[in-house]
Amino acid sequence: MDDIKLSGINWNLTEDSNFLATTATRLAQSLSADHVLIGELGTDGHTCSTLAYVVSGEPVDNIVYDLKDTPCADVYCGEVCLINGDVQQQYPKDALLVDLGVTSYTGVPLIDSEGKVVGILSALFANSLPLGSEENIRALFMMAAELIASHLEHIKKRQQLLLADTIIETIGEGIALCDRNRHIILTNPAFSRITGYSADELIGKHTSILRSDYHSEEFYEDIWHTSAREGRWSGEVWGVNKKGDLFPAWQTNNPIKSSQGSIEYYAILISDISERKAAEQKIRFQANYDPVTQLPNRHLLLSRLNDAIQMSKRHLKHCAVLFLDLDMFKTINDSLGHQAGDQLLQLVAKRLTEGLRESDTVARLGGDEFTIIVNDMESAQDAEVIADKLLQQLAQPFQLDHHPVTITGSIGIAAYPQDGDNPDKLLSYADQAMYNAKNRGKNCFSFFTATMQQQAERRLVLKHQLEEAIAAKDIGVAYQPIINIENGQIEKFEALARWQHQGKFISPVEFIPVAEEFGMIPRIGEIILEKSCELLRQLQRAGFTNLQFAINRSAKEFPRSGEAEPNWLDVLEDHQLPASAICFEVTESILAPDNLDQKRYFNKLKNAGAQIAIDDFGTGYSSLSYLRKFPVDILKIDRSFIAEFTNREDDLTLVSTIIAMARSLNLKVVAEGVEDQEQLNKLMELGCNYAQGFYFSKPIEAEQVLPYLQKWAEQLNVAVG
Ligand code: C2E
Ligand code: MG
Ligand code: MG
Repeated sequence: MDDIKLSGINWNLTEDSNFLATTATRLAQSLSADHVLIGELGTDGHTCSTLAYVVSGEPVDNIVYDLKDTPCADVYCGEVCLINGDVQQQYPKDALLVDLGVTSYTGVPLIDSEGKVVGILSALFANSLPLGSEENIRALFMMAAELIASHLEHIKKRQQLLLADTIIETIGEGIALCDRNRHIILTNPAFSRITGYSADELIGKHTSILRSDYHSEEFYEDIWHTSAREGRWSGEVWGVNKKGDLFPAWQTNNPIKSSQGSIEYYAILISDISERKAAEQKIRFQANYDPVTQLPNRHLLLSRLNDAIQMSKRHLKHCAVLFLDLDMFKTINDSLGHQAGDQLLQLVAKRLTEGLRESDTVARLGGDEFTIIVNDMESAQDAEVIADKLLQQLAQPFQLDHHPVTITGSIGIAAYPQDGDNPDKLLSYADQAMYNAKNRGKNCFSFFTATMQQQAERRLVLKHQLEEAIAAKDIGVAYQPIINIENGQIEKFEALARWQHQGKFISPVEFIPVAEEFGMIPRIGEIILEKSCELLRQLQRAGFTNLQFAINRSAKEFPRSGEAEPNWLDVLEDHQLPASAICFEVTESILAPDNLDQKRYFNKLKNAGAQIAIDDFGTGYSSLSYLRKFPVDILKIDRSFIAEFTNREDDLTLVSTIIAMARSLNLKVVAEGVEDQEQLNKLMELGCNYAQGFYFSKPIEAEQVLPYLQKWAEQLNVAVG
């Protein structure tokens, strides 16, 4: 055997193997033995393999022989055998004795430090032993056996060490030894391979060199405390390698104690489990995602839908599942090939995902079917805006490797709670609704619920018509006077949006919510403000310089955080109107506490001199604390309270309370919907500041405003005069 480097020590094994041959030779010579052999039991348990064999005083090749019926077999059982002269008679079945012409035999077991027989030492003689030499031979043999046994044990230990060292050097697990202060003393190549640090870079360093932020300080402390207390810790640990990257490992920490029982070292074993983790990840991905588009598959979709339903239940919200099927996908797939088909699916997946919020889920169920979960909606109606947007986005051409392709989709919508709370059922309802959309001519969406569908269709028709009207600035304004009850003067007009489609009047009660839903309200707001400013300027030029116009503003016209502010003040400036000429009417919903962003813009309007009125007061939150927090000037009592307040006690109480409250907050009050003299008298009595309603006038056309004002002034003069 060659020299082997083991734990830094050079062992010359060539010399060692000579020891046995030399000892056997010397024994043979000193005893004049014809054969001397040192043997060990073969792995089969019934043969002996010689480690050294000397014949006629010279070492020869090793042999293997069967132990059965030989004196060596008895020696193996622990006996010392010394047979002088008649060995063949005592072991008549041992043919080897006959073959070799042996008459005398000496054999002693080789016993290791634990008392175990590890081999034999024997000598064979052709002649009888000299008389009286037996005791000397026995003593010599016993001594030699002890020497050989200890030598063999030594060799065995060294071989075991060598083996252990080879294992440590070649094993896939990383091994490190550290002292009780957790400083690294020794590492193996696998430890370096896993951590990226060479042994030199690690030795002397604290084990915390491998710590990552993935785990807490407590987690790491627990590893050491548990291993010290329980003798072992093992678990999954994310470490950080030399490059700074996280790596997953299965780690075992074993304390090594001194003979007194105190911990001297820790052995740390780490196995690289990144491949297993990657495989797990892959399995998880395959179980939950579609390989073509990387979108969630049906399995993950249903689980997410279930989560969305539970979430909506908890927060009293709505959620919807949109089932989208591409129209004519098969034709594209067949004409351009599957590869192009896959590419198109990927582009569709990308476009759908980009068009939605991160909290929404886009999934692919297979083929050309996609599903979208829309969360956190105030009503199922919100889903129609999303469906409409998705269809428009989808209709934009796709560029497939030099082929521009246009495709449309059909969408079915089912929503929680009105269509149920079972994910499977909702999905199947959405699927059915999708077929309705296909039947209606494709490239459209359809609700599962019939009434929802009818309303949605009506809204969608309105939306298209309204878009055209807005583009043509075909949105009109009617003005309704607001009278100062104390002096009878017309001090304000409320501007009200008017729209006629093909000669048919459509109420703002119907079209304003549609405009809000589809994001068209800011454009309507612009038109109303622009037209109102033009009229107001004309009226000023005609001498009515103290008039104020009340302009309705929807909550959706106020900027959310991060959005650009509207340019209402600039519009006023362009018309050379002071901001005080306008009062913006908003409903109480805008005062909700989560609308604090808008408060900033309110203050800006207010600081410029514009007024703020709370419209339809009494129908919403009506919270005094909100009123204090927002810069409000006017409360408009909703006309539903005025309608009956002269003969309904509860309405009277409400109206008088609002007036008293407003006075204490230094706010003015406008009563809406005043239709008769009795209501006006009562309001006057309660100290209401302004009145608006059919009793004075219905909303009138722009051209009628100046004549109306002139006539009013005349009559007032007559009345006063
Ligand atoms: P509003 O701001 O409370 O407007 C008052 C509504 O009451 C108007 O209905 C008006 O015609 C009606 N009205 C006035 N006096 C009487 C009366 O004595 N009796 C009865 N029964 N009704 C009376 P209109 O014009 O149909 O507007 C309805 C709602 O549409 C408005 O309620 C407002 O919330 C919204 N709206 C109208 N124009 C606009 C606009 O330009 N922008 C926004 N965001 N909303 C608008
Ligand atoms: Mg109003
Ligand atoms: Mg109102």
